[in-house]
Amino acid sequence: MRTAIVVGGGMAGLFAANVLADHFEQVTVLERDEAWSPRSRPTGHTANTDSLPQAAGRSGVPQTRHVHVLLLRGVQVLRKRLPGLEEELLALGAPPLNWLKDTAALAGGSWLPRFNSNLIGFSVSRTLLESQVRERLHRRGNIQFRTGYRVVGLSASYTETATNGRRDREGGSNDTLVTGTVCTVGDETVTLHADLVVDASGRSSRLPRWLEDLGYAAPQESTVNADVGYATRWYRIPEGWQADWKMVLLATRFPDIKGGAVVQPVEDSRWVVTLVGYAGDHPPTDEAGFEEFARGLIGPQVWEAIRAAEPLTGIGGYRRTENHWRHYERLKRWPQGLIALGDSVCAFNPVYAQGMTVSALSAEILDDFLTRRGTRKRGPLGGVPLGPSSLAFQKKLAKMLQTPWQLATSDDFRWAGRKAGDASLIERFMHRYIEHMLDRIHRPDVCLAFFNAAHLISPPATLFRPRIALPILWEMVKNGSLQPVAKTTDRQKPEATSL
Ligand SMILES: Cc1cc2nc3c(=O)[nH]c(=O)nc-3n(C[C@H](O)[C@H](O)[C@H](O)COP(=O)(O)OP(=O)(O)OC[C@H]3O[C@@H](n4cnc5c(N)ncnc54)[C@H](O)[C@@H]3O)c2cc1C
Repeated sequence: MRTAIVVGGGMAGLFAANVLADHFEQVTVLERDEAWSPRSRPTGHTANTDSLPQAAGRSGVPQTRHVHVLLLRGVQVLRKRLPGLEEELLALGAPPLNWLKDTAALAGGSWLPRFNSNLIGFSVSRTLLESQVRERLHRRGNIQFRTGYRVVGLSASYTETATNGRRDREGGSNDTLVTGTVCTVGDETVTLHADLVVDASGRSSRLPRWLEDLGYAAPQESTVNADVGYATRWYRIPEGWQADWKMVLLATRFPDIKGGAVVQPVEDSRWVVTLVGYAGDHPPTDEAGFEEFARGLIGPQVWEAIRAAEPLTGIGGYRRTENHWRHYERLKRWPQGLIALGDSVCAFNPVYAQGMTVSALSAEILDDFLTRRGTRKRGPLGGVPLGPSSLAFQKKLAKMLQTPWQLATSDDFRWAGRKAGDASLIERFMHRYIEHMLDRIHRPDVCLAFFNAAHLISPPATLFRPRIALPILWEMVKNGSLQPVAKTTDRQKPEATSL
């Protein structure tokens, strides 16, 4: 029987398990948390406490309490992979969202136009989304979940015969087969065997260490830290609440608007309100400071909303928001039977709301990869990817990650205080181009192009369609922002906020 193990039952692990179940007879998800967060929806809320189960979430994923927006590309993948899930979420009270009509969104200091479009998704708490996906996976029959299993290492065997002494393309010896995971369960240590191990254990993954234990090099890492802080509180939407928006998104603008916010409507008539501060200007987690920060935001909606609403939780902060990429794809040697995806490989500044969608897209790549391997090249493990091919997966994944990474880090580089000389000509051009684009965001065609790129629906190249690009480029020529002098803005440090 061919088996796979997934380390970590977060969104990346769940999406991966869902596709693995099409390729393996048995898939086991190992999760260190003792128990999943409560599925039952709360019947009574206590103001100013964290007694709201869906807000508190589970300890393994402390980000659960904060705003979690699923980009439309992610919704599209869910519709394809888990048909009917969207309807289940809507039936459980997740509000539908006609994105451009229902969202009051400020980007680059300009309000996005509001109009009807076919860009329709839904808004749901991370906890409900995760628990419903998990339930769907349970129903598949060949996915089992083991909670309270903390993976502490990989088990491996030497498999020169499996590779017939071949050297992989990169020249390294490819002689180790990952055969499973070593876990602690309470006081016990157990080894679980599988043909494929997928690491989806999140930002704090110990995979670099586990690889070193097997004699492999640790990966190079890229970090771009805009020093972003979150503060979040859940509210009950006041009865009879009237506003011309369902959701509010206030984005920051380099270098003068350091504070932003999201009001996300979720099931059970609640708002998740997250305040965001860049470059160390973090929103406070005490009540007075939180409200003061909300009052000072560039748009009035957030303060108007929370002033009228009943708080359901305390205020929780979050600071671990840097963009962080472990470049496994650059390694010369990689063991057989191992794959890594999700935040374990690349975690983004959450402001861009890309993590869950990128995890869903990573699972798509995994499916495609296993399908090709299974049909075209059945190895001694019966279609399980061998060493060089597992590394090939990491390379394919890295290719996909480039777009969300560029989207997330382009602006964050500036907030991080990178010197102008470090920014490439293309990056400086892109900063200018996007600024000019945001000046025109009131135009529906510009807004749609921007929205589709930000939601990972269309590649960034679509921002350069002639109708959009020509007037922008003409203006850039006229006002000289195509000249190298444009560097000077990049040198500016974030100034005191003008809020
Ligand atoms: C504050 C914040 C807000 C965010 N907002 C958004 C958003 O709006 N939209 C969006 O798409 N994304 C958002 N994200 C990102 C999103 O949460 C993740 O990118 C996405 O869920 C994929 O994460 P993951 O499954 O790879 O890791 P995680 O969600 O961290 O899950 C990892 C899992 O592995 C388990 N685990 C860890 N180590 C072990 C071990 N040794 N053994 C067994 N189990 C282990 C953990 O308990 C956990 O369950 C946000 C992130 C943060 C921090």
